Amino acid sequence: MSPSAAKPDLPRRALSLSRRLVHGTASLVAAGVMLAAPVASVHAQGDQSTNILDTEINEILHEECDPAFIAAGLNPKDVTILLVTHEFNAATVNNQVFILGTDLIEKTDNPNQLIGVMAHETGHAAGYHAARRGEMMKAGLAPFLLTLGLGILAAAAGAGSAAGALLGSSSYFGTLGALGYSREQEARADQAAITYLEKSGQSAKGLVDFFNEWRFEEVFSESRRYRFFTDHPISGDRIDLLRRRAEEQPHYNAVDDPDLVSKHEIMKAKLIGFTEPPQTAFFKYKDDDHSFIARYARAIAYYRETETDKALTAIDSLLADYPNNPYIWELKGQVLFEAARTKEAEAAHQHSVDLKPEAPLLHINLAQAMVAQNDPKKADAAIVELRHAVALDRDDLDGGNSFAYRLLAEAYDSKGDQGHARLATAEERYAVGDMVQARIFAMRAREFLPQNSPDYRRATDIVLTSSPTDDDLQRLGQRGG
Ligand SMILES: [Zn+2]
Repeated sequence: MSPSAAKPDLPRRALSLSRRLVHGTASLVAAGVMLAAPVASVHAQGDQSTNILDTEINEILHEECDPAFIAAGLNPKDVTILLVTHEFNAATVNNQVFILGTDLIEKTDNPNQLIGVMAHETGHAAGYHAARRGEMMKAGLAPFLLTLGLGILAAAAGAGSAAGALLGSSSYFGTLGALGYSREQEARADQAAITYLEKSGQSAKGLVDFFNEWRFEEVFSESRRYRFFTDHPISGDRIDLLRRRAEEQPHYNAVDDPDLVSKHEIMKAKLIGFTEPPQTAFFKYKDDDHSFIARYARAIAYYRETETDKALTAIDSLLADYPNNPYIWELKGQVLFEAARTKEAEAAHQHSVDLKPEAPLLHINLAQAMVAQNDPKKADAAIVELRHAVALDRDDLDGGNSFAYRLLAEAYDSKGDQGHARLATAEERYAVGDMVQARIFAMRAREFLPQNSPDYRRATDIVLTSSPTDDDLQRLGQRGG
């Protein structure tokens, strides 16, 4: 996991993967931060919210939600679920990007509740309820949409993660929250959710239970509600109707697969460990609980407390029992890396990559441990890992690409390869939607790269797709594409 709930004043661990990602997009995200201001809420901790990327959690979320996505006619491979810490919310812009607050996941009792909420969001997406462009314009959100569009375009061009970083920001939640759904749209999303759940052989009980458990939110004034319930107004009538319809379905009594129930608890433990204060994890997962989940959560909490030795002892004990779990190896690598033990971190991350070679983020972790060793020989190995990660990630919008490119630039720089270093920086800027810098670095890269090589052509493509000036175009013409 790449936690980023760390406060800015924390020492080394604040330099986690996604923290850097978020910093990298600061200029774009800022546009949304200002617009989000009106939706302050006592529950919201927006200023601490940030994106997190995690292979294990991403897999669990997809395992839970994909059947409902498929029932709704979506291709799960096209669906990205972005995680934002310290948010009790779920939202969707279109049917390809879902944003999910980790607080909401932590508050679900079982997979069926979360699946129900996501099916409801899918219903909003299918009904184009979020595409209320006119309303957004009226609300003065045009500049924000513009940056949003830029991000999506960059992602569509295969360059990566601008949309991920942007959409996953808490400010985007705020933007949606300023609009909210109508009661009629809620009723339609509920109905669609029941349809998707039934079609995929699942019960809508979780959706009913979830809304019912939070029924008291309706007595709060809007400003005191969790944002999710500001966007999705609940009422007694609505819940009663939803329950009646859910109970009529043939699959109302279907229950979650026990394996999925266990994975759901792993996901919650990991989120609590990484995003809540360590004391919360120690309180919930007490020392005398020797289950895998409790040991995992405590290992993460030790790490968050910078108790490196305790964390490593806990992790090694887990690895003795579960030597083939790539995520425990990943955690070990992360603990060692942030303790500046980069060689050992590399070995641990190598294990995680060997166990799960198809996961780009694991390759990026490994490369990061290699680059940090400041050894030109390691730089070559890191470049191989990063190129592989970027290639794996190309159609995915999960926010990892920009960081991979930044590391790639560092690795090339350490070898004195200026052309490729600048091209990697151009890719990184392109991935976060910073077209001006992307173009400048791509122009510089062209000065160093062999003419007509694939990388030279890639640099030219970046210039051409990032609003070149007449002057740029003239220089392109002089040197040839
Ligand atoms: Zn809704």
